[in-house]
Amino acid sequence: MRCPTGKNSYYSESEVQEALIRSHIRFLQGAKNYYQCHDCGEYHLTSQGEINSILNDPEVKQRIKREQQEQEWTGRIR
Ligand SMILES: [Zn+2]
Repeated sequence: MRCPTGKNSYYSESEVQEALIRSHIRFLQGAKNYYQCHDCGEYHLTSQGEINSILNDPEVKQRIKREQQEQEWTGRIR
């Protein structure tokens, strides 16, 4: 279902968590958190409010760092 807010929506919480982490791998300023939408019932990312605790998880932080490095290397090859 398409959301009236026009934002990307994620069907499940695990999906939106993955998207939250990925936004930090791709951009220096990633999304901060996610929420369940009143309009569509699915999840959206947001850059407002408090930072989600999964982003402070050491394992998640390490993964972000590692994947950013991999991305840099791929960029150099191209
Ligand atoms: Zn929505």
